[in-house]
Amino acid sequence: MNFLQLNDNQLIKQANLIDGQWLTSNNSITVYNPATTQALGEIPLIDEQNVENTIHAALKSFNSYSKSTSYEKSLWLLKWYDLVLAHADDLAKILTQEQGKPLAEAKAEIQYAASFIQWFAEQIKSDHGLTLAEPVAGKSFATHKHPVGVAALITPWNFPAAMITRKAAAALAAGCTIIIKPSELTPFTAIALVELAQRAGFPDGAINLITGDAAMIGDKLCQDVRVKKLSFTGSTRVGQQLFQQSANNIKRLSLELGGNAPFIIFDDANLDQAISALIQSKFRNNGQTCVAANRIYVDIKLKQQLVPMLIERLKQLTCGNGLTEDVDLGPMINSSAVSKVATLVTDALAKGAQCVYQADIKHLGPHYYPATLLTEVNMQMAIANSEIFGPVLAIQWFSHEAEVISLANNTDAGLAAYFFSDNIHRCQRVANALDFGMVGINSGMVSHAISPFGGIKYSGIGREGGHTGLAEYQYIKAHCFGHLS
Ligand code: ADP
Repeated sequence: MNFLQLNDNQLIKQANLIDGQWLTSNNSITVYNPATTQALGEIPLIDEQNVENTIHAALKSFNSYSKSTSYEKSLWLLKWYDLVLAHADDLAKILTQEQGKPLAEAKAEIQYAASFIQWFAEQIKSDHGLTLAEPVAGKSFATHKHPVGVAALITPWNFPAAMITRKAAAALAAGCTIIIKPSELTPFTAIALVELAQRAGFPDGAINLITGDAAMIGDKLCQDVRVKKLSFTGSTRVGQQLFQQSANNIKRLSLELGGNAPFIIFDDANLDQAISALIQSKFRNNGQTCVAANRIYVDIKLKQQLVPMLIERLKQLTCGNGLTEDVDLGPMINSSAVSKVATLVTDALAKGAQCVYQADIKHLGPHYYPATLLTEVNMQMAIANSEIFGPVLAIQWFSHEAEVISLANNTDAGLAAYFFSDNIHRCQRVANALDFGMVGINSGMVSHAISPFGGIKYSGIGREGGHTGLAEYQYIKAHCFGHLS
């Protein structure tokens, strides 16, 4: 089955979906394969009138879609889930070609993306309000959950499938109609997913997808009072801007913004397992995830043992085009991502960090950055205070638990944190002390459909997935019944 292949122009759409119609535009944006730097295709540069038409269509559809039953919505979602799984290989290939991650990781992302559709298809059937029978004399109460209305979903390039389904499945299950604005760097996975959703039978206008000038689209979606909800995943800078633009109409917001995750290895940790988890957390998607281990704190007593073990593991990582068999690390998303990482490493080395390992990948091309291990990193270096978003392990040593907790919490970000220890008392103490939305305790992965995903501080507001994921797209109405005698 290859009908979703990017190189089959008959079959993969290079268009926007508005009110059930696939539309192209005279103006377009070129999408590139980061591994080869070659063009993959064109997507429409939507104009303001068509953004307006999309909002109109989503609102018109909301009036009927929101009245469909939970069972109907669940069945559409389950059909979509089945279609995504049936086309997982095609979707993964599209994803790798536009985003760069190795095919095995792309396949894992498609499974992860599908898990949100299944989760919310099941959740909505048992998502009830409360009945409060006469808690005060002469009155009883009932709470009803309602979809907030048209929801705009703005998603990033690092998880082109999962960031869409995590929002879209929750919104559609809750009864919202949606306008998806995927990253212009990775739109084809989104288009393929939406094509499959159309085949699952969602009504026209329930799911819309638009591409183009992000600032113009973002501004129109934020300023329009008919759009009741904005869910955004991306940089803190853009999140703050969207927050401000949404203030005039008091829009409901979910913001999943940058992280700066500490990863702590205590001297009582199982070192083998800690290292495996660290490699997975740091190098998944070539370090380009908001939950990636970023500031690595290791008890100084482990220094002699840890460094050779890490070098051994790094030597085993193969870098190359993600479509090639057995590649572990793909390209970075573009050349500015490469130069940002290179600048952080240069600054760290100038301030005393030691580069104890760097892979040799010079032959691969301009979008690759080598897996790198830095030690003797300290807080004076930009790399210790920035989201690296690349394949660089930057290690700082510590001596005491209280010291490392203070270092770990000393950040504006509050998305994910990880630590490894075999001492149950320390596990409870440290998990409580870390100021983050998600804490991995002897685990380097915290994201699952069943668990709420989100941060505190500048990492954003709201939670996606888990038992509270639907609530992001609902408001609660309380009915108060007076008992007449
Ligand atoms: P990243 O740095 O990870 O690319 P961005 O915040 O720049 O994160 O992008 C995340 C998403 O936000 C993408 O879909 C992008 O097109 C979109 N975006 C970027 N700038 C704006 C903006 N000014 N208004 C609305 N959306 C934007």
